[in-house]
Parts: sequence; C-alpha cells; structure tokens
Amino acid sequence: MSKLTGSRKALQFTESVIREMTRLSDAHNAVNLSQGFPDFAAPQAVKDAACEAINADDNQYAVTWGQRPLREAVAREFTRRYGVEVIADQQVTVCCGSTEAMMSTMMAIIDPGDEVVVFEPFYENYGPDAILSGATPRYVTLHPPSGSKTTWTFDPDELAAAFNEKTKAIILNTPNNPTGKVFTRDELEAIAALCRKWDAMAISDEIYEHIIYDGQQHVPIATIPGMADRTITINGLSKTYSVTGWRVGWTISPASVTGAIRKVHDFLTVGAPAPLQAAGAVALGLPDDYYTKMAAGYQRRRDMLLDILERHHFTCYKPLGAYYIMTDISSFGFRDDVEFVRYLIKDIGVAGVPGSSFYKDPSKGRTQLRFCFCKKDSTLTAADERLAKLVPVIAGSRPH
Ligand code: PLP
Repeated sequence: MSKLTGSRKALQFTESVIREMTRLSDAHNAVNLSQGFPDFAAPQAVKDAACEAINADDNQYAVTWGQRPLREAVAREFTRRYGVEVIADQQVTVCCGSTEAMMSTMMAIIDPGDEVVVFEPFYENYGPDAILSGATPRYVTLHPPSGSKTTWTFDPDELAAAFNEKTKAIILNTPNNPTGKVFTRDELEAIAALCRKWDAMAISDEIYEHIIYDGQQHVPIATIPGMADRTITINGLSKTYSVTGWRVGWTISPASVTGAIRKVHDFLTVGAPAPLQAAGAVALGLPDDYYTKMAAGYQRRRDMLLDILERHHFTCYKPLGAYYIMTDISSFGFRDDVEFVRYLIKDIGVAGVPGSSFYKDPSKGRTQLRFCFCKKDSTLTAADERLAKLVPVIAGSRPH
C-alpha cells in the first residue's frame, strides 16, 4: 500500500460535518443555523480592549500557559462563583480555544488502552479527540424527553456499566451541545461517585456555562465533594463573549496534571493570541448583569426559534441551556437526516446539522436535526419565511 496517505489515525474520522454544513450553506446562500457562532456584535468593551492591546504592542508570544491577568481572572471568577479555590499559577492553562484545551488535556492524560466515557449524542469533536489521543470511548446514551420526562436522561445502570478499571476519565458537557440538557446536581453526584469509585477523572466542557434558561443553575462537577482534585474544567471566551474566531480557551486542572497539559499545549501551539488574552481578562471582569442579560437574550431567541420550528412541523426538544434545538424530523418522510439537510439547504435555503453527526453509530441520529439560535432576530425571521415552503408528508411517502 502506498505510503502517500494520511495516517491510520487520521483515516478513522471524517472532516467535521458541522463545518461542512457551513460551507454548503454559504455556497447556496442559505440561512445558516448550523454552526454555533453568533452573527451579532461582541461587547464593545471587549473589542476595545483587544484593539488597545494590539496598539500597545502586546503582539509577541505570551507566556506559553497564558498571560497572568487572564489566568488570574479565570481563577478569580471560578472561586467567586462556585466557592472552589483555584490557584492560577498551578491550575490554569490558556489554550487556543476550548477545542485545543480538550485536545491538550486528552493527549496529556491518556495512555494506550485507557477508556473514556462519553454521553451520546455528543459534540462531534470528542470522537476525533479520543482517536487522536488513543483513548477508547465508551458511549452512554442520553434519551430524548418523552412521557413524563421533560429533559434528556441517562440510565444510571448503563452509566455504571460503562466504568471499569481501564476508565481514565468521563467527558462531560453541561450545558450540553447538542441536546440543551443541563446536568442536575443529583446526576453529577452519581457521576462523581463513579469517578471516585474507579479513580477516574472528569473532563468537564463548560463552554455554555452562562447560557442557561428557565431558572436552571449551572453546577460545575468540580464543586461536588471530592471532585476538585479529579476534574479538569474546560471553558473559553467563544460563546460567552461572542468571539468564536478569537480562539481563546482554558483548562482549570488539579496541579498534579497541569504540567502535562502545559507541555502538550506548548508543543502544539506555543500559546494563544497575546492581545486577545489581554482582552479576555477584561471580558471576564464584565459586571454580572452582562451575563444575566445575555442569557435572557438567548432565552428569547430560543423561544422564537421553537415557535418557528414547531409551526413548520418539527418536533422540538426544548433546551434548558446552550444555544441549539434538537428536533425530530420523522414527519418529513426523508430517507435520512443527511438527505433532508441537503434538501433544506439547497431547496429551502436553511442550514442545520444532521443528527447522525452527534452519534458514533450514525443510525441513532437519522431522525434528528440540530438548529442553532445564536442569531439576530432578522436571521431567524428569514429562516421562518423560507421554512414556509417546507411541507410534512406521511413518513416514507416522499418520492426520492
Ligand atoms: N465545546 C462545545 C460543547 C462546543 O459546542 C463548542 C463549539 O461549538 C466548542 C467546545 C468549541 O469551543 P471553542 O471555540 O472554545 O474552541
């Protein structure tokens, strides 16, 4: 076989379906409700801080694990909000987005043969993260709301069965993409008990920490007794401050693993953009009402998109956090989710993400589709107008 190919690792996963949908959407001039990035402005104070940092010539490599003001702001805010002490020098590492923070973490802690537990459906990066770091994923199903259950749930026995002596960590994402689930304290306590029982870590992606609705509370698993020493919390500027293109994120880790994460991070990227780290320190200092207003704005958009999608015959799973709505598309009678999304983009002019891209076994997501609502009202209204062309049919009857 020719050596002029990608590695076995790289051949095990495809390019990102989410990013592909954005390209397809752009090519067809569709309203893009696929990739989760806001189409509205970032806070002026944060943009000004970035411009000032560039003009002040804060333009060279930052210290590899992150500029002190940002690291200290990350530590200060976590302690202030959640009462867990974080020592910036020993525990905070600034990375190029939470994407790199997750990859550096996985590469820093995983050995061949290690297993990681992942809830499914999952944010699609976790699959390649596992492959590239050499971890064997064990999936635990999140079941959609049905009957008396109004939120996505997991079976505690299935979760317990996924842990064993090879389990190195569980990857958790709350508030959750794509389901909108916010893990409750009871659920986190059950997860924490398993981590303690099997001496496993929790890698907790909390990028939607502040995007939470209906009076729900975000509970970081690091605040559950016994978990601060075994949790790596991952977060970033992207979603909270509407700056997904800046690529600034971080880890808060137990001091025992920070050195490993920093080494991997250093040799992967050297460091995150210096002037944007300076602006990040300003962003983290915004007053509390910034976060309250932001969450209220997203809740209003959530309700707006729920109304639009339900009027156009989608069955919606109402999210309690993050800025996506998972839908059921069975009533449209398409062969599968990918075919339906292509039709939506090309013929209707609205883009979403096929549900199958959030599952290891794509067949589990064939009747699902995710839309995002981190968009201006005018964008959501444009989607509404275009979706008016969409008609449901009796399942199976649509001619292909
Ligand atoms: N984690 C989750 C759950 C996400 O949904 C996303 C983006 O959509 C990311 C991480 C990526 O974040 P960042 O821009 O900080 O790399």
